[in-house]
Amino acid sequence: MTTSSRCERCGTVIDTSEWHPVAVSERGDDLQVLAFCSTRCQDHWERDEGA
Ligand SMILES: [Zn+2]
Repeated sequence: MTTSSRCERCGTVIDTSEWHPVAVSERGDDLQVLAFCSTRCQDHWERDEGA
């Protein structure tokens, strides 16, 4: 089990016990929950994904 993950955009280590923005990404039949260090990174990622 991991208690930290990395920001999907910039790679910053996120303490997942703290609130952080997340996004759900569909890859084929898979749903992935992606974590971000800030809403700014989340916004950039969504723009890059064309979502
Ligand atoms: Zn980030």
